[in-house]
Amino acid sequence: MELICQGVWGSYPRPMSAEFAAGLTERCRDPGCGSRDRKPDQDGRPLTYGGDTSCLEVRLPGDRRLILDAGTGLRKLDCYRSDEELHVLLTHLHVDHVAGLTLCPAVWQRKVRLVLHAMRQPHSSLWSLLNSLYRPPLWPVQLRTVLDRRDCNEFDADGRPVELDVLPDIVRVRALPVRHTDPTVAYRIDTDGASLVFAPDHEGNADADRFSQFAAGASLLIHDSQYLPEELPQKEGWGHSSYEQAISVASQAGVETLLLWHHDPSRTDRDLDELGRRAERFAREQTGGRLRVLVAYDGLQLRL
Ligand SMILES: [Zn+2]
Ligand SMILES: [Zn+2]
Repeated sequence: MELICQGVWGSYPRPMSAEFAAGLTERCRDPGCGSRDRKPDQDGRPLTYGGDTSCLEVRLPGDRRLILDAGTGLRKLDCYRSDEELHVLLTHLHVDHVAGLTLCPAVWQRKVRLVLHAMRQPHSSLWSLLNSLYRPPLWPVQLRTVLDRRDCNEFDADGRPVELDVLPDIVRVRALPVRHTDPTVAYRIDTDGASLVFAPDHEGNADADRFSQFAAGASLLIHDSQYLPEELPQKEGWGHSSYEQAISVASQAGVETLLLWHHDPSRTDRDLDELGRRAERFAREQTGGRLRVLVAYDGLQLRL
């Protein structure tokens, strides 16, 4: 499978700065367009990490694809087949993970048909909750212009992994409830020879044993790393992890590569470069080099 990180930030989109705009221009000239490691621009500044909220495109054999989360990164999605049925797996319903639903031209022009999947929420249906957000006067584009009610699929999860009936001829998709401020799941996607675990919003190590069993042996773990270790004491109960916690759980699960995700919107590119250096050092100390750690940026492409 091939992954395109359309949005890697958390909480709210990072405002566009001159540095961000310059980075976008530079990247568009680059035929590899995000497929290589980040490199400095002509003035020696690093390229930008972007600013869109959580959205991962997963390209599968047979021209099929899955989308994980519908943050503002969804707006960049290409439409490459007019009759496509696009399955979107939502980890939860916080606005940074659904804000792209009405922002993507391919969706509101109905070039693709969205099919949503999410864990059942306690008091209201998926359709009712999203419909309460996407309606005037809160928002001019109504939900029914981008989505049919019958394309909202909800599943129950009682603490154990649950198997979903999504593209079963190509992939195995499982969901596991994880600790966050509101009901949230992580997803695991297995194909022949590769496995991906996606946990963009997951707090700490309280459920580390259960989570690491779920993520065991994955080729790639994409995990919440919003905080620095020294920020954690002030952020307890806010629903997110530090990079050290992400590395610990990745190490416990024995995954090959960890991709740090859900960046705090207050961080600059320089802050994330520094976070990446610290994370690499910590991972080396903890695992003796067995775990590869990368910092996600908008546009990063990976092949598993
Ligand atoms: Zn989030
Ligand atoms: Zn959240």
